[in-house]
Amino acid sequence: MTPPSQLSTQEIQALDSAHFIHPFTDHGDLATRGARVITRSEGVYVWDSEGVKLFDAMSGLWCVNVGYGRKELAEAAYQQMMTLPFYNSFFQTTNVPAVKLATKLAALAPKVGDRSFQHVFFSSSGSESNDSNVRMVRRYWDLLGQPDRKVIIGRLNAYHGSTMAGASLGGMSAMHAQGDLPIPNITHIGQPYYFDDGLAGESADEFGLRTAGWLEEKILELGADKVAAFIAEPIQGAGGVIIPPASYWPEIQRIVDKYGILLISDEVICAFGRLGHWFAYEKFGYKPDLVTFAKAVTSGYIPLGGVMVGNRVAKVLIEKGGEFNHGYTYSGHPVACAVALANIEIMETEQLPQRVRGEMGDYFGKRYAELNDHPLVGVAESCGFVAGLVLVKNKHTKERFVEDDAVGMICRGHCFSNGLIMRAVGDRMIIAPPLTLTHAEIDELMRLIRLCLDLTQQELHQKGLI
Ligand SMILES: *Cc1c(COP(=O)(O)O)cnc(C)c1O
Repeated sequence: MTPPSQLSTQEIQALDSAHFIHPFTDHGDLATRGARVITRSEGVYVWDSEGVKLFDAMSGLWCVNVGYGRKELAEAAYQQMMTLPFYNSFFQTTNVPAVKLATKLAALAPKVGDRSFQHVFFSSSGSESNDSNVRMVRRYWDLLGQPDRKVIIGRLNAYHGSTMAGASLGGMSAMHAQGDLPIPNITHIGQPYYFDDGLAGESADEFGLRTAGWLEEKILELGADKVAAFIAEPIQGAGGVIIPPASYWPEIQRIVDKYGILLISDEVICAFGRLGHWFAYEKFGYKPDLVTFAKAVTSGYIPLGGVMVGNRVAKVLIEKGGEFNHGYTYSGHPVACAVALANIEIMETEQLPQRVRGEMGDYFGKRYAELNDHPLVGVAESCGFVAGLVLVKNKHTKERFVEDDAVGMICRGHCFSNGLIMRAVGDRMIIAPPLTLTHAEIDELMRLIRLCLDLTQQELHQKGLI
C-alpha cells in the first residue's frame, strides 16, 4: 500500500470520508466538500496537503501554548517510551513521571485563602476529568453524611466536554438535544454575556452582579441542602470567548461560600499561561475546590488531563474515604506525564505566563482592541492570549445578524482563504494563539484579521445583508 504521505489530497479525502467519523462534524457536508488535510507545522503555522501555510490563531484547539515543532517534547516522549512506555497506577504501583508531575503541579497551583492544592488526579482529557469531578463531588458529600447534596449547577452555553457527564455539565443545547442530556441532578443558570444580555443603562459590573445572582436564586429554588457544586469556566471558551465582568467572580465566590457548596473551576483552556498565570483562578482571585485541566498541560502534543484536588476535598476523600472506586487505565500515563513536565519546563524557561501577563500581553490586548473601530465589530475583547469579537449588522444600534446569515462561517471562509485560522461560534469570531507570539507575529495576526473582516464586509454587502 502507498504510504499515506504519498496519497493525493483527493485520495486522502476519499478515504477520510469513507472511514473516519469526525467529532462535531456534519458528514454529508464533509463528503461533498472534503476535509482540509493538515500535514505539518512549525511555530505558529500549520500547512495543508496542498502546501498552503496557515497562521494558526487557535493553537490547534486551544492546546499548543508553546507553539509547534518543539523537539524537547518529542525527545521527552521518546526517552520515556524507551524507558517505560506504560505502567498502570492501580494496585499500589506508581511511576516516576506521574509523581514528578503531580509534585510540580502542586507547587505551581497558588494557594488562595484557605485553599491549597496538594493533590492531583490524572485522566487523559478534559471530558474525563469532569466525569471524575462528578464522581469526586458526589463521593465527598456522601462521606460527609450529606448524600442528598447531589445537584451540580453549570451554565448555559458552557463547555465541559463531550462525555455523558461532560456534555451534561456543559450548557450546549445542541448537545443536550442528542442523547437525552443532561443526566439527572445537573441543572444550569444563564451566562454572563454582557453584549448580548446587558440591559439598557446597566453597567457591566451591575450586570455581573445580577448574573452571578442567578446562582443564588437557583440554589434557593433547589434548596441549599440539595446542591453539591457549581462548575464554570473562568472565561467561556467554546461558547465564544465570553469574558465575565470584573464583579462576577467575587460575587460567585460569596454565594458558594454562603451555602457551603463546592466550586469547580474548569480551566481546560484558561490554565497554563493562557491568561498570564499557571491557573486562572489566580487571575480572578477566587477559591475553587477542584480545578479541571487538560489541553495545554502538554501543549496538546499528547493527551493528558486531570483535576487539581484542593485540600477541602482531598482531606475527606483521602482521610475518610477508603477506596475510591474510580480511575482510568491511563491515569498518570508515564509518557504523557513526561511530556507535560518538558512542556512546563519550556513555559518556565521562556517565562510564558509572565510574558502574557506583562508587556507582550499588553501589546496583544492593545492591538486587538483596535479592531473595535471596524464597522462590522460590535465589541472586540481579550484577556491574556484569548480573544473574541462579535460581528454585527449595525455598530450603533447593535443590530445582530440572524442565524441564517451564517456570518461567522462567511468570515471563517475568508480567514482560511487568506492563511488565517480563526474559529467561528455563531456570530462571534475567536482566537487563542500560541503564547510564544512575537511582536511581528502579533502585527501579522492583526493585519490578517482586519483583512478578513474587510472581505467579510464586502461579501455581506454584495449579498445585501448589510
Ligand atoms: C476542551 C474542553 C473540555 C473537554 O476536553 P476534552 O479533552 O476535549 O475532553 C472541557 N472543558 C473545557 C473548558 C474545554 O475547553
